[in-house]
Amino acid sequence: MKVLLYSAKSYDKEYFSASNAHYKHELRFVDDALTLETVDLVQDAPVVCVFVNDDLSQPVLSRLSRAGVKLIALRCAGFNNVDIQAACDLGIKVVHVPAYSPNAVAEHALTLMLALNRKIIQANERIRKGNFSLEGLLGFDFSGRTLGVVGTGKIGSIVARIMTAMGMNVLAYDISENPACKEMGVVYVSLDELLQQSDVISLHCPLTEHTRHLINAERINRMKSGVMLINTSRGAVIDSGALIEGLETGQIGYLGMDVYEHEQHLFFRDLSCAGIHDDTFKTLLNYQNVLITAHQAFFTSDALENIANTSLQNISQFERGIKLDNEVQAA
Ligand code: NAD
Repeated sequence: MKVLLYSAKSYDKEYFSASNAHYKHELRFVDDALTLETVDLVQDAPVVCVFVNDDLSQPVLSRLSRAGVKLIALRCAGFNNVDIQAACDLGIKVVHVPAYSPNAVAEHALTLMLALNRKIIQANERIRKGNFSLEGLLGFDFSGRTLGVVGTGKIGSIVARIMTAMGMNVLAYDISENPACKEMGVVYVSLDELLQQSDVISLHCPLTEHTRHLINAERINRMKSGVMLINTSRGAVIDSGALIEGLETGQIGYLGMDVYEHEQHLFFRDLSCAGIHDDTFKTLLNYQNVLITAHQAFFTSDALENIANTSLQNISQFERGIKLDNEVQAA
């Protein structure tokens, strides 16, 4: 099938081309993100393959439909950037990659926790300048402390397992409890209890209408003073304005983010010459106890291989008119 891949980076081209030797679709890659301005690039492709920050709102979907697009193949797990109901109304099917490597994301959350706690970035910078002093680099033991996991699905449950092995007491909050987590000793509590009792809080729920700004100023104030907050889920699960206040008062002692509420204007591109035009983001960068990565938690060779294989398999199922294993249904 003819497939147009929007927001295609060098690594997308490499992994999709390699996997396509088996699936034999007609792939066309464009660097541009999908927006109202770039819809016309689709030409005669019935399938578009998109990533986390492509715009699949109703107006864009409507234009895609008029151009003859029948399938949206998301090469990611989350689908908060797609108006699923609008796609359904337009007769466009949506497929995603539900699990390409939950380990990759869980391991990245762990990386942020460890690096923040032991101030690895600052330590390395100092050593390069010939400063071998330990002043200001004091960390703490994770063992014996309490981790709160919000969302114990595929990724959250791996984080819980890793941190249990490191000797942490793990509390969890989810709208549906995961028996595997209970078996490993995770204790489910209310969100309020989790916020009040956790030394480290790691977010692993999807972005939905219920989780948008789940972490707001009021909830940050209920957390332990000096809490470590880690977000590898979706940026808008946290009210980023509230983060600044929390950091300023010291209520948030450490912040690790792989996702940012307004990341679509920043992430996945090189803005080193153009500069950053986002005051909230620039303020966050001023804090030494903030560690930010640009949505790279998924970014391992294993994950990219799985993403390409599953996306192309999803498209092949659509082409053959058989049941779509990974279809996203309107609620
Ligand atoms: P999953 O569906 O396996 O688990 C999500 C869990 O969140 C489920 O247990 C669900 O019940 C729970 N949940 C849903 N609504 C909730 C709510 N209102 N409050 C509390 N819990 C709620 O998903 P997953 O594979 O573990 O991925 C989780 C999220 O991680 C994805 O939705 C995506 O946004 C994000 N993600 C980020 C990256 C990255 O590179 N940073 C990569 C993959 C996924």
